[in-house]
Amino acid sequence: MNKIVLLKDDITKVPVEAIVNAANTSLLGGGGVDGAIHRAGGPAILAECQKIRNRQGGCKVGDAVITTAGDLPAKYVIHTVGPHWHDGQHDEETLLKNAYLSCFKLVKEYGIQTVSFPNISTGIYRFPKVLAAEIALAVIDQCLRENANIEQVNLVCFDEENYDLYSKILGQ
Ligand code: ADP
Repeated sequence: MNKIVLLKDDITKVPVEAIVNAANTSLLGGGGVDGAIHRAGGPAILAECQKIRNRQGGCKVGDAVITTAGDLPAKYVIHTVGPHWHDGQHDEETLLKNAYLSCFKLVKEYGIQTVSFPNISTGIYRFPKVLAAEIALAVIDQCLRENANIEQVNLVCFDEENYDLYSKILGQ
């Protein structure tokens, strides 16, 4: 757990090897963190996303794909798609867990040692924030145990509410 660093920041401003994007299934950009990443990263990211779309038709909920980071202070962007929260009866918890796991699969495959995560699904997709944080931390803890190559996982909170609740859970 000491490899986890909690930050209150804009994820596009934090230098790291890989930035995780809370994308949507189209991979064509959107609002929230997705919009911020494409704006700051420039057109190279969208160009690669379009190639992936042509190849496999976007990205399913719970899956992840990797592209260049363009002009961002990173080498890669890992685009994952978290679930929309409906009522908790639509596999939301499993799908959010799968989104984090899919990112860590690519982290392993690309030998990535430092990675930043936003609070996937807790914005426009309205996943309950405490439950999302518990799921995120459980997966991160498990993946840190399984992959000793990872040096640092940044949890980059943009809104005060997420930052405060992560601070509480992590005891900071
Ligand atoms: P989703 O559709 O997965 O809910 P959002 O982008 O709406 O995605 O929200 C996910 C989280 O990203 C929210 O907690 C939101 O506060 C946060 N967020 C928005 N912009 C940024 C940013 N520039 N850096 C880091 N986090 C951000």
